[in-house]
Amino acid sequence: MKTETFDPVAISEQQFNKAAAYITGLKAGLIDYLKYPNQTHIIHFPVEMDDGSIETIQCFRVIHNRIFGPSKGGIRYHLDVNQAEVTSLAKLMTWKCALVGIPFGGAKGGVVCNTKVLSQNELQRITRRFTFELSKVIAPQSDIPAPDMYTNEQTMAWIYDTYNGLNPGHNNYPVVTGKPIGLGGSLGRREATGLGCLFATQQFLSKALIPSILELKDTRVAIQGFGNVGAVAAKAFYKQGAKIVALSDSSGGIYSEQGLNPYEVMAFKQENGTVVGVPNTKIVSNEALLEVDCDILIPAATAFQIHHANAKQIKAKLIVEAANNPTTPAADAILQRRGVYVIPDILANAGGVTVSYFEWVQNHANEQWALETVNEKLQKKMAAAVDLVFDYWQNYSFSPNDALIKASEPNFRTIALVIAIKRVADATLLRGIWP
Ligand code: GLU
Repeated sequence: MKTETFDPVAISEQQFNKAAAYITGLKAGLIDYLKYPNQTHIIHFPVEMDDGSIETIQCFRVIHNRIFGPSKGGIRYHLDVNQAEVTSLAKLMTWKCALVGIPFGGAKGGVVCNTKVLSQNELQRITRRFTFELSKVIAPQSDIPAPDMYTNEQTMAWIYDTYNGLNPGHNNYPVVTGKPIGLGGSLGRREATGLGCLFATQQFLSKALIPSILELKDTRVAIQGFGNVGAVAAKAFYKQGAKIVALSDSSGGIYSEQGLNPYEVMAFKQENGTVVGVPNTKIVSNEALLEVDCDILIPAATAFQIHHANAKQIKAKLIVEAANNPTTPAADAILQRRGVYVIPDILANAGGVTVSYFEWVQNHANEQWALETVNEKLQKKMAAAVDLVFDYWQNYSFSPNDALIKASEPNFRTIALVIAIKRVADATLLRGIWP
């Protein structure tokens, strides 16, 4: 069997090259420039652990592009964090913001650590020191972090507090988004990524591309991941009458043909630490979950879950990428041949950064919008972005200047990237290459 590389930079370059080949008149030098990050910060610092020992912590903040405004992107805490991953995720943020049309560029941060074994005090010390190290990088008008994998509102509160201590006398709330509601956070931010997935899916289904799924009622949905994004998506789809047939977390997954109640699963997880073991469910592995019989598959966990070896076995007719980078290019090609549609990450999960933008606007104006206002604006943004991608897909006459890809029609990922890259490229030329 053909093997495949899971190198995040190589994969993002492959996806970028494919999209760039569809954009006529893009200067080669500009294409090249957009592949590289504007800045990469690699930071090491010591942290005193609760037992008195000292550990060296490695962190990254990569700023890819700031053509449209301050760079924006989450900070993840995970043992697998590395420069290549953070760089590819920073690029995704640039395309995501450009696609949904919010005035931010792209960035990402990462701290190599395992939040499952660290105490709250250790996490706080790591976060405050990281913020101190980044104090000349992040700022309300230049680079704005947010939550990502294994970071949350508390992490953002520590970032805000540390930054504010270093820069007294200013309104520093907009330096970070995803803050607690009582500390400048926006209503609806925590739920925004999962809810955004629902809005994107509803708009996509309204196009009637998949005749067997015209609405969510009784549609069978499998979700890999039950963290902030997966759990919110599960509840949102369930409320629309979808049947959640499978769910999982990092310990494993559960399946029920009759459908799961995500509220009950959440209560079980809160008591037992995992979804595995919910009564009257079959245990499935995280890999097997991807292949269960369902209509919509939502990968909401880690990257590269859908790859060359399992793409043929996927039974869903629609994949909604709640996670970043869950599908490899080889899998994309197989899915496309099989007629499985994919709502790509930069579209499907853009709800998070969209409400981050709303939070930033509220912080500047010292306002707090009602939840209905936030969700209504989010729904409109997501629907407009789906419409845009769909219209391009339907009406644009593509003539790729790369003979290799002439054989296949562009899929939704490629179209979304074409729109985003073109917007960034056009704005770069409008601003002018200086000096
Ligand atoms: N970490 C989220 C993402 O990947 C949100 C970023 C943000 O809100 O800035 O889109």
